[in-house]
Amino acid sequence: MGLRRFIQVSYFRCARTSGILKHVRYKPPSLVQWRHSGSCLYKAVIFDMGGVLLPSPYRVAVEWEVRNRIPPGTIKQAFISGGMNRPWMRYMRGELTSAEFLQEFGQQCSEIANFSVPVDSFLSELTSSQMSKQLPIMTEALACIRAEGLKTAVLSNNFYLNSGMSFLPLDRNQFDVVIESCREGICKPDPRIYMLCLERLGVQPNESIFLDDIGENLKAAAQLGIETVKVDDPETALKELETYLGFPLRGFVPHTCLVRPTMEIPKDPLQQYLEEVLGGPKTGPLIVRQFSHGQSNPTYYIKFGDRHLVLRKKPPGKLLPSAHAVEREYRILKALAEAGVPVPKVLALCEDSSIIGTPFYLMEYCTGHIYKDPSLPGLEPGQRRAIYIAMNKVLCKIHSVDLKAAGLEDYGKHGNYVQRQVQTWTKQYRPAMERLIEWLPLHLPTSQKTTVVHGDFTSPLLILNPEGPEVLAVLDWELSTLGDPISDMAYNCMAHYLPSHFDLLKGLRECDVIQLGIPTAEEYFRMYCEHMQIPPIENWNFYMAFSFFRVAAILQGVYKRSLTGQASSATAESGGKQAERMANLAWNFATKEGFRVFKEFPDAKPLARPYSTCTQPEAFPRRNYVTMAPSSPAHTSKAHLILSPNDLPRRAQDLYHKLKKFMDVSVYPAEQVLRDHQVSQTRWTPHPLIEELKDKAKSEGLWNLFLPLENDPEMKYGAGLTNQEYAHLCELMGTSLYAPEIFNCSAPDTGNMEVLVRYGTEEQKERWLQPLLDGKVRSCFAMTEPQVASSDATNIEASIIEEKGFYILNGHKWWISGALDPRCQLCVFMGKTDPEAQRHKQQSMLLVPMDTPGITVTRPLSVFGEEDPPAGHGEILFENVQVPKENILLGPGRGFEIAQGRLGPGRIHHCMRLIGYSERALALMKGRVTSRVAFGKPLAEQGTILEDIAKSRAEIEQARLLVLKAALLMDTVGNKTAALEIAMIKMAVPLMAEWVVDCLLQAFGAAGLSNDYPLAQFFAWARALRLADGPDEVHRTAVAKLELKHQSLGGEEEFPRD
Ligand SMILES: Cc1cc2nc3c(=O)[nH]c(=O)nc-3n(C[C@H](O)[C@H](O)[C@H](O)COP(=O)(O)OP(=O)(O)OC[C@H]3O[C@@H](n4cnc5c(N)ncnc54)[C@H](O)[C@@H]3O)c2cc1C
Repeated sequence: MGLRRFIQVSYFRCARTSGILKHVRYKPPSLVQWRHSGSCLYKAVIFDMGGVLLPSPYRVAVEWEVRNRIPPGTIKQAFISGGMNRPWMRYMRGELTSAEFLQEFGQQCSEIANFSVPVDSFLSELTSSQMSKQLPIMTEALACIRAEGLKTAVLSNNFYLNSGMSFLPLDRNQFDVVIESCREGICKPDPRIYMLCLERLGVQPNESIFLDDIGENLKAAAQLGIETVKVDDPETALKELETYLGFPLRGFVPHTCLVRPTMEIPKDPLQQYLEEVLGGPKTGPLIVRQFSHGQSNPTYYIKFGDRHLVLRKKPPGKLLPSAHAVEREYRILKALAEAGVPVPKVLALCEDSSIIGTPFYLMEYCTGHIYKDPSLPGLEPGQRRAIYIAMNKVLCKIHSVDLKAAGLEDYGKHGNYVQRQVQTWTKQYRPAMERLIEWLPLHLPTSQKTTVVHGDFTSPLLILNPEGPEVLAVLDWELSTLGDPISDMAYNCMAHYLPSHFDLLKGLRECDVIQLGIPTAEEYFRMYCEHMQIPPIENWNFYMAFSFFRVAAILQGVYKRSLTGQASSATAESGGKQAERMANLAWNFATKEGFRVFKEFPDAKPLARPYSTCTQPEAFPRRNYVTMAPSSPAHTSKAHLILSPNDLPRRAQDLYHKLKKFMDVSVYPAEQVLRDHQVSQTRWTPHPLIEELKDKAKSEGLWNLFLPLENDPEMKYGAGLTNQEYAHLCELMGTSLYAPEIFNCSAPDTGNMEVLVRYGTEEQKERWLQPLLDGKVRSCFAMTEPQVASSDATNIEASIIEEKGFYILNGHKWWISGALDPRCQLCVFMGKTDPEAQRHKQQSMLLVPMDTPGITVTRPLSVFGEEDPPAGHGEILFENVQVPKENILLGPGRGFEIAQGRLGPGRIHHCMRLIGYSERALALMKGRVTSRVAFGKPLAEQGTILEDIAKSRAEIEQARLLVLKAALLMDTVGNKTAALEIAMIKMAVPLMAEWVVDCLLQAFGAAGLSNDYPLAQFFAWARALRLADGPDEVHRTAVAKLELKHQSLGGEEEFPRD
């Protein structure tokens, strides 16, 4: 593939500038001292047609005159005499038709010969098939010139035939520019036609050489400053041309050029080696040419006697140990040939660097046809199809090689090929690839086979039998390893999606492949599955995304070097743009795959969060985030808002991606089962799937992520995330109502665990914290009472009385979440130990085992008719419940203090989960409205729906920003100083979520209210959270009071209850 050449070119450019190659410059061979085109002064060679590329018309004229008994020289005389308006010139300018020309030219000849000359037959001979054959030495010369990178043109004085076609029996592909006098209306020796030719070639007169057989035409060219070569005898003329160009015009081997100055290899030691290994000595000079495409390891054509060989070696200079391993290539080629895969036959491996400077291997030169253009130009549709089928089969053959029998079991690592490749290529990072870097690991194939993989399998690397649809050899095995075979197949299909003008690999995008007879990518994939006898590949969009990602990453590496100035080539820079294009193509496939996966779920899962507010941390304006109190500059200077999970520190980011994958793979697909269970007879028994998923999450390290780093600096208990880091993960968990419990991150356990970490004694921690952290038990928090307005925590009436080393508890509580769960073993109870003490010193908190006598859960309360089993929200009677004194937390009268400490993180959690609900609801709604049609158009095209989407997006973004800000402040200046933001989020986010979910639910239609989707539950929870954890009004009051206090207007701070 051209890509390999691209890498190679820039590598050597880079090496040359940095001087890496200086020490391996060998003396060129002694025989003929050809220059490489790099040192050639000329940029273009212009050929006349008749008499240069085709046989001379004058010779035809002489023979014709003899045969027709016409006085010799009559035709030549008529050709050259009569000024610019003579018939021949007018014919060549396209001013006369053939009939007109024959009449006037015949008349002219008759006048010269003094009798009637029938010129019709002369014109027929001039255009006969004999005269229309290009001279083979010229064909070879043209190929040699082009192989060295020079341009070629034909500048012909020609004419229109009877058919209306111009006479130009040449393969136009040999020329960069074709100038025909009859089409241009001017002919040689008019200087304008030379200028036109130079202009189209884009060269100066002194950068070009012109070959013609007519002195007058050459003179005109020379006057313009063009170098000229008179062609009397083509062979002699080409020899003269060789002296100007400095390279031979014979011995052309397709796809090769002269060896570049920095790539020369010493001929004498090589000759000696070949004689030893292949038997010799051989007659004739050792010819060495360099392959100009398709390989990143320098590859040479060698003619040794009558043997045609290919030598492949490592590049010179310092290399990464694993790169350019020709030994590996030799090994795989040998093994594959034995396994019946068509590959060039390898002859010898030379690991001795003293011979030509680096290790190398030899293989036989394989003749055949290489199509750089995947549209296979010049073939019939049936032939194209047959070739594609042959290519498909050969890939299957590679993938079917028995690793053990071929001795290739250790040729590469087994399994996880795609993961490893993603990691490798991710290192070549570019912004356009960010989303892919995030997306690919989350959508990895669940199972991968391990076979030999080529790693760069494209049609230009195949040598095809010109006689029929057969692959004679697969070239360039440098990227081969053991890996996932489907990735080769996808890579092979990239051409279908690339434009035809793409530099590195010509594409088929604009082609009508069906008309060309080429299978579509989908058909080609299917064909592969049939040949391999495997089920159809469903996630081939993933593999396509992965293939384009790999190419983008390689190009990105080249681009990076161009930025550091190591590779100054324009090619390398354009690699940057190409990389971006490739990454975008990859993303198109990623999106398609996303939709496929999305559709497969019985219940759609949220799409990747579109971070429309996303900005680079550096670009985010620095400001004092603390609006209410002076901040510590040390803290704030270090901190910044992390708006996107992609900007999280590496560890948190890894956790995020792992979590995302877990959600995709294990949580969303389990939702319907769990929802159904919640309305079944057995709803008060936890579903076994939850415990199963908890174990899985724990084993993957997705466990107890909630504990803020500040409370657990040694990370004894939790994952050590900051509030802000956890906020992003928490939002993700919020997209499913079941997720928090699965990761042991659900309320009220999280709040209770935090209380124990902060205020528990060692014994209390051992007794309660550890089982909670292990997810073995659950807990509840009992504060609210039916008989008093519990939004004011000072109202609560439950009593805690000390008696003989025990506390006796009496009270009536309700809305105690989790109390009905059979796993609930602990109640954190709030009551009054001293009703006479100061208002905020009356309350205490106690750890009460749920099986203590005197505790009766009288009923589950329902939220909009939903009982939220198995946790439930219980009404509980505490009647003379006796607990040991050491069960008190922190001490008597400190309940309010504890509640205050518990405040912040829980609020962040609730709010981020609410944002998760909203994002999920929006994703579901978008999926719904694009697939349903009402009143003649998709719902998504109804104005009100668009408005709802827009408003929802804006609401979500605003809310998220505020929550992240609150989290940032908690991390940097502490919960107390962040009190305003904490109150604001609790006031704003449930309201936002309720509105957003309500509005999206409406667009979803009646289905949204059912148990088939999570929307109804999201709505119920968003609404409930406007009351739970303190009603909105209390938080609003707190915000207003803080605001007023800040302005020194006084007012006592009302503490919002938990
Ligand atoms: C789903 C759910 C789960 C819950 N889980 C728990 C739990 O696990 N443990 C627990 O202890 N409690 C829990 N609660 C109870 C919750 O914390 C209380 O319902 C809440 O604090 C309000 O108390 P109240 O119901 O007694 O309302 P009240 O205090 O009677 O207030 C009623 C209304 O008066 C208005 N109001 C109150 N104060 C003000 C003010 N200062 N300014 C203006 N208006 C005001 C508000 O509109 C308020 O909604 C839960 C509630 C729900 C809905």
